[in-house]
Amino acid sequence: MKVTFPQLGNTYFAVKAIFDDLEIEYILPPVSNKTCLEMGSKISPEEMCFPFKIMIGAYIQSIEEGADTIILPGSCGPCRYGEYCELQINILKKLGYNVNFIVIDAPKSIGKDEFLNRVSKIGQYSKKSKTEKISAVLKGYKIINLIDDIERKARLLSGYEINKGEVKNLLRKCKRDALNTLGTKEMINLLIKYKKKLDNIKLDKYRNPIKIAIIGEIYTILEPFSNQYIEDKLMDMGVSTQKSLTPSWWVKNTVLSPLKLNSLDIRRASKKYLSLYIGGHGRECVGEAVLAHKKGFDGAIQILPMGCMPEIVSKSILPTISKEKNFPIMTLVVDEMTGEAGFDTRVEAFVDLLERRKDKNVLYGY
Ligand code: SF4
Repeated sequence: MKVTFPQLGNTYFAVKAIFDDLEIEYILPPVSNKTCLEMGSKISPEEMCFPFKIMIGAYIQSIEEGADTIILPGSCGPCRYGEYCELQINILKKLGYNVNFIVIDAPKSIGKDEFLNRVSKIGQYSKKSKTEKISAVLKGYKIINLIDDIERKARLLSGYEINKGEVKNLLRKCKRDALNTLGTKEMINLLIKYKKKLDNIKLDKYRNPIKIAIIGEIYTILEPFSNQYIEDKLMDMGVSTQKSLTPSWWVKNTVLSPLKLNSLDIRRASKKYLSLYIGGHGRECVGEAVLAHKKGFDGAIQILPMGCMPEIVSKSILPTISKEKNFPIMTLVVDEMTGEAGFDTRVEAFVDLLERRKDKNVLYGY
């Protein structure tokens, strides 16, 4: 068995390290790219959401490199994601690719026994003992937390750095070096080293940079190619950014949701505007917009992949939050037709607006 998995932000660092520990053969998914998107767009139903097209294009690249099993994290509620697997199997079959799918869904959706059954399907390809397997998974969780912490800090600090570009280069180097490690232990040590390096970056603590919260659909927030590398571009502009939907958040949220203790702050914040889960992370998007305002951010940018139903609902609510709280929120729709120049112009115009608001302290709605 040669497994592959979708790119979903920093998750691939942890998955790679776990498979290295367990000595399971894998094909690292390609970094999302134009070829994946073009290939995916050609074979997907036109109205299907944007992440689906990139994902299936990437699967084909991995399959052509030898992958025969695709491991997919489970559904995030009543949105198209719940049907991804069935549809992707059918499309790939029609194209002559015969691959196995293992969908790791939340135990509350498929039952504890089925969950363990699916996890053991992956585990059976490793000769390691049960204790070693558990230890690898726990260390993988540590990796997700470490890399998310490093990224969170880097994106915030870039607004304060004295030597322009230093934080971005460090983050890029950290990710590149992490992919060259073998196993969880080596990767954890490397990430700890980079975490310390980040603490030594020279900062101008008196600077008051523009701070923007990145909100919206989880895949497009996490995958830089699908959001036109918006966080990197904002880093180049000296803007601090923050996103709450990260792989470490997702794990925590999934574990705590059966106890109804997940994302309490987001649920409280969204209650007035959207008190129900509507699929995807639509409710989280609304809650995060409110929280971003509360935390003193200057504005928020919602990333909305074309065809995403939950995010269309959030988009219709965001203007009310913006008006009531006098808090600028911009929505950027992304799909295979999105042009870089137009996208960048909108981002620059938004940052310009936030800078002028900050300078003049003018209080008006957006
Ligand atoms: S959240 Fe939106 S973009 Fe993501 S899978 Fe669901 S419908 Fe598609």
